Amino acid sequence: MTMTMPDTAVAATAPLLEIRNLTKRFNAHGGGVVRAVENVSFSIGRGETFALVGESGCGKTTLTKLVLGLEKPTSGEILFHGADLATASSKAMHGYRRQAQAVFQDPYSSLNPRMRVSKIIAEPLMAHGIGDRDSQRARVLEMLDVVGLPKTAADLYPHEFSGGQRQRVAIARALSLKPAFMVLDEPISALDVSVRAQILNLLADIQDEFGLTYLIVAHDLALVEHFSSSVGVMYLGSMAELGPTESVFSHPKHPYTQALLASVPRPDPDHRAPVGVIYGEIGSAMAPPPGCKFHPRCPYAVDICKTTPPVDRELAPGQLVACHLAETIVPPVQSSIAPL
Ligand code: SF4
Repeated sequence: MTMTMPDTAVAATAPLLEIRNLTKRFNAHGGGVVRAVENVSFSIGRGETFALVGESGCGKTTLTKLVLGLEKPTSGEILFHGADLATASSKAMHGYRRQAQAVFQDPYSSLNPRMRVSKIIAEPLMAHGIGDRDSQRARVLEMLDVVGLPKTAADLYPHEFSGGQRQRVAIARALSLKPAFMVLDEPISALDVSVRAQILNLLADIQDEFGLTYLIVAHDLALVEHFSSSVGVMYLGSMAELGPTESVFSHPKHPYTQALLASVPRPDPDHRAPVGVIYGEIGSAMAPPPGCKFHPRCPYAVDICKTTPPVDRELAPGQLVACHLAETIVPPVQSSIAPL
């Protein structure tokens, strides 16, 4: 797959989004508390692409809902342009929702099949009371052009498009409000392999053109390696490892990150990922293991891992690792982990 590399040079600028000690707990049906997200912190610079990776059930979906303002955090802060969303007025939240848009995995279910594309793309403008019919129509045609669809697409219905074209429509809709920030939730995983690179290139192009900041959720680690400038590896609601993608992928320090990367085939033997054997399944968010949540599956676990949660430590520039033994672990030679 060939794709345009993002401009990572802008990643060093001031954060657009800061997540501080974010926690989200739900009351489970039938009793108990689900600890979906626990004490997670990271920031995303303007123009940067930050990737969230981890197995199903690790908290990625809840975290993106919190970031989009669709859920309220139990505690912690979500700062956008330095202002905390948790304490924002409804007017400020309205403004945030204009600035923060999302593109979801499945363009077949995310577009209303009974609406023409023109209305699908114009709907966010109408919801925010922006412009009149003429200016909304002009914005629709502009956005279609940006995403590489002809003007005639405006009068068609979603079923008249291929999967890749539908995702272009979804991107045009998300762009119509000219947001600063986008959540990309598995944006290519439902598409044919033949069009995935085209959609990624489109996302990279519009990032440059509109100065967008991305939070991407993806299980395709090859995509994450090429598309993101920073990455967070989540395990059972907590951040296991966090840092510049290049550093984390070339020198993963957390055993879980090492195992995830080991699941990716690498054709170049000189850049084969360090690997480890991980057995078992991700634990329950209702009863996470004490100490390090990863300890029941970790081949290196020692007594302290079973009782004391590891704190984040910066073991390389910008690379934070939550593991008691990260400095001393020598990766083993072979591994496997269940596909994400
Ligand atoms: Fe493994 Fe212990 Fe590190 Fe957790 S803290 S990842 S159990 S070595």
